[in-house]
Amino acid sequence: MNASRTPSEARPPRMEALARLPVFYTLEGKRTIVAGGSAAAAWKAELLSAAGAIVDVLCETPGEEMLALSQEAPRGAVYVHTRRWCPADIEACALAIGAFDTDEEAAAFASAARAVGVPVNVVDKPAHCDFSFGSIVNRSPMVIGISTDGAAPVFAQAIRAKLEAFLPRGFSLWTQAAQRWRRALKATDLPFEGRRRFWQHFTARALMHPDHEPQLEDYTALLDRTRDEGAAVSAGSVTLVGAGPGDPELLTLRAVRALQSADIILIDDLVSSEVLDFARREARKMLVGKTGYGPSCKQEEINMLMVGLAKSGKRVVRLKGGDPGIFGRAGEEVAACRAAKIPVEVVPGITAAQAAASRLSISLSHREHARRIQYITGHSKKGQLPSDLDWHSLADPHVTTAIYMPVRTLAEFVARATEAGLDPKTPAAVVVNATRANEQVVIETIATLPEAIARLDINGPAIVLVGHALAEGDVVAANGWSHPRHGTHD
Ligand code: SAH
Repeated sequence: MNASRTPSEARPPRMEALARLPVFYTLEGKRTIVAGGSAAAAWKAELLSAAGAIVDVLCETPGEEMLALSQEAPRGAVYVHTRRWCPADIEACALAIGAFDTDEEAAAFASAARAVGVPVNVVDKPAHCDFSFGSIVNRSPMVIGISTDGAAPVFAQAIRAKLEAFLPRGFSLWTQAAQRWRRALKATDLPFEGRRRFWQHFTARALMHPDHEPQLEDYTALLDRTRDEGAAVSAGSVTLVGAGPGDPELLTLRAVRALQSADIILIDDLVSSEVLDFARREARKMLVGKTGYGPSCKQEEINMLMVGLAKSGKRVVRLKGGDPGIFGRAGEEVAACRAAKIPVEVVPGITAAQAAASRLSISLSHREHARRIQYITGHSKKGQLPSDLDWHSLADPHVTTAIYMPVRTLAEFVARATEAGLDPKTPAAVVVNATRANEQVVIETIATLPEAIARLDINGPAIVLVGHALAEGDVVAANGWSHPRHGTHD
């Protein structure tokens, strides 16, 4: 690094090599040709028609799919001509597609197209293609194409499936609205900067309410909000989001959406850093857990911070480990927002008990062993075992109990529970850092678990599960325990 350089001299690095250039062709009303009548040819003709092209199909014996398509073309007309193609057909076409059995015909078709400067694609013959069709995610007018440069079409399909699940169908409606509103917005007195802010608000709203069909009222609300900025500060909001136990794959799609439209994220120290990778890059992130904010980070201070930020117009995401409503003090935060008249929403997350059960491959309920499931905390407000636990319920042989914050008080818990009648041989497990790369699992009986935990060097959150439901499934083969991520990483 040259210390004497000024920041303005720093140029962004040149773009890395690109295997293919993705371009999005406008085909509305343009003539295209498809030579061949097979099912593969029909699929290409359908794509061209869907994109608005007029499609001339040339083949001696069109297949069933092609004939059906010509009867019900999705958009542009599809005309089937029952004769072989000739070079003159390709002239003045926007694109030429062929599907042939022989290499000779493919080569002849490709060279005829290239001779007249028409981009050509021959199905399954990459040597005769000027371009390829990607895998498509259709949220028209938003369209996503995926290419692997022919290396791994199945991989591209899998990515497509992921994006399909990830991108709400409603994005199509929002993009259509953008198309409708664009001109109206230009006609307003908003300067360029204001219009940009409008589209930022638009995007945040689309991400937050993807399945709401945007209406004129949304347009006026967004316009008002953009106008009011500067003068009065618009209303913010609070979303309590469950971050799950740690593995980001266990985030809900809604949680990811909230993270991507946040202005500010207030983070619990239980939240894993991998989860934060899903947050909007520009969002301000503040740790408000005990480790990040100093020992004085009281609930009341968090509430004040959250409410104050929302009042100043920010979209606040309060990101909490597991599920916000399970030993997460969500109730107090929701009440604080309500009292301050701030709109508040809760996005659920996978709680530690569910995460631990999944890692043990057990069912928390069980027809024979557990008719009931109970979640308790091992910590009262004062940090001791809560004095008002229902020992009768805890001694029930037909229940699965999940103990949150169990470590410090487990020995006392076991003494009291067995005294109340809990069978000391009841299976019990501790899962430390459930679903994270440093996960630890120990399976014992409830009587022996406290000692086993004392031997572990616990660093991170731990949860205890107790009950005969644990005797089922993989847990019996405890020695065969493996962590899938270790399996792939080591
Ligand atoms: N809202 C959280 C719980 C907060 S209380 C949830 O729904 O999971 C904090 C306790 O949760 C921890 O002491 C521990 O008992 C448990 N916990 C949270 N994340 C965990 C994880 N990844 N592995 C094991 N226990 C966890």
